[in-house]
Amino acid sequence: MSNYEAVIGLEVHVELKTQTKIFCGCSTEFGSEPNTNVCPVCLGLPGSTIVLNKSVLEYAAKAGLALNCDISLLSKFNRKHYFYPDMPKALQISQLEIPIAIGGHLDIEVEGESKRINIHHIHMEEDAGKLTHQGDTISSALSSLVDYNRSGVPLIEIVSAPDIRSGEEAKAYLEKLKNTLEYTDVSDLRMEQGSLRCDANVSIRPVGSKEFNTKTEIKNLNSFRAVQRAIEYEIERQIEVVEEGGQVLPETRTWDESKGITVAMRVKDEPDYRGMVEPDLPPIEVTPEWVEEIRATLPELPDVKKNRFIMEHGLPAYDAEVITSSRKLAEFYEKTVALGQDAKVVSNWIMGEFLRLLNANNLEITEVKITPEYLAKLLSLVEKGTISGKIGKKVFAEMFEEGKDPEVIIKEKGLVQISDEGQLKQVIQEVMADNPKSVEDYLGGQKKAMGFLVGQVMKATKGQANPGLVNKLLQEALEELA
Ligand SMILES: [Zn+2]
Repeated sequence: MSNYEAVIGLEVHVELKTQTKIFCGCSTEFGSEPNTNVCPVCLGLPGSTIVLNKSVLEYAAKAGLALNCDISLLSKFNRKHYFYPDMPKALQISQLEIPIAIGGHLDIEVEGESKRINIHHIHMEEDAGKLTHQGDTISSALSSLVDYNRSGVPLIEIVSAPDIRSGEEAKAYLEKLKNTLEYTDVSDLRMEQGSLRCDANVSIRPVGSKEFNTKTEIKNLNSFRAVQRAIEYEIERQIEVVEEGGQVLPETRTWDESKGITVAMRVKDEPDYRGMVEPDLPPIEVTPEWVEEIRATLPELPDVKKNRFIMEHGLPAYDAEVITSSRKLAEFYEKTVALGQDAKVVSNWIMGEFLRLLNANNLEITEVKITPEYLAKLLSLVEKGTISGKIGKKVFAEMFEEGKDPEVIIKEKGLVQISDEGQLKQVIQEVMADNPKSVEDYLGGQKKAMGFLVGQVMKATKGQANPGLVNKLLQEALEELA
């Protein structure tokens, strides 16, 4: 890599979660029976007339503003002609000349350093139908099935500037992009359902060069991890080609996840889309006031929220970064803090137990039953000493699964912390009688024997003894023997 640098641009397609399609009233619902959400418009039947769905324009502008773009007060739709069965009218309506949003940016962090990735533009377009090839690969398939439910689902395509230099930066950019768009609520952003898709353009050049060399386009990237790996592989492949005196061809390549390689699909000849202004739609005109109205609907975005958590709540930068990495997580945290809990304590529980259980069970935050109210209540119980922190974790796990009131769980399971001095003194006497060697060690100056004895008391009480009190009482009991 030393003599070369990579030049990478990402094209990200995001399906907007409007109720209906971009130019007709058909439902956009994912997973319906094939070819049931269709009409003459999205089937491209002759004579059908189209109207732009106003929500699509609003969602696209909202996404543009969240990504620091300028909104075009006048933009246009174009026809992009191509012949492929996923688009029955043999053209796609897109924005080729004047897109809805231009010139944004996102700041990413890689290896502790901040870097700005510019966004060239965002345009609106209609999605195509979905082809399913009946065979292992497209070339060996004997037939293909086509589902037009997806045809006409609104998309925005977010085109980055070629500012990305590594697979790691590409992944960081995608994570930040997804994170920011999640806050705007314009899309489901589900890569596995295809509502977030990414193609990567990759080329290499000698370090210091400003030229753009022939690039390849990588498709079939199904996860952020795949994007990173595919780019890293492709950079190495192109360097090898050039070092061996060859030429990088302008190919479309596909990522083979199981083999960990990119494979050439076809050489890209610059396609002639015979682009023309869409004659059935007027230009889209919006006013600066309308843009400001859309801006006013934006929630607090992750970077701003993160800084506020640092400045107002006194959270460490790392905590603030993790908690704002999901809007729903940030809201959960903030609601719990608003109920009077200490910010850092809440952050510790969310970053510890909460995220651990979410990841272990592969769940989204919306799928769990625990509420900020119950977490706040649990933290109060730990603070008051009703239960120990260790028991608190057990209760938390139960709340996470069952969504029950922590007080109910503690009562049902008899988990209340033992703070009764008489009861604890008795256990301590038993533990000391059972472990004379440790008692002797302690009295002989080996202070660490104390930890062992405390541990035994906790074990005897199934973790329910108040640890502070156990320490105090045990110390007293040992000193009496000295
Ligand atoms: Zn339709």
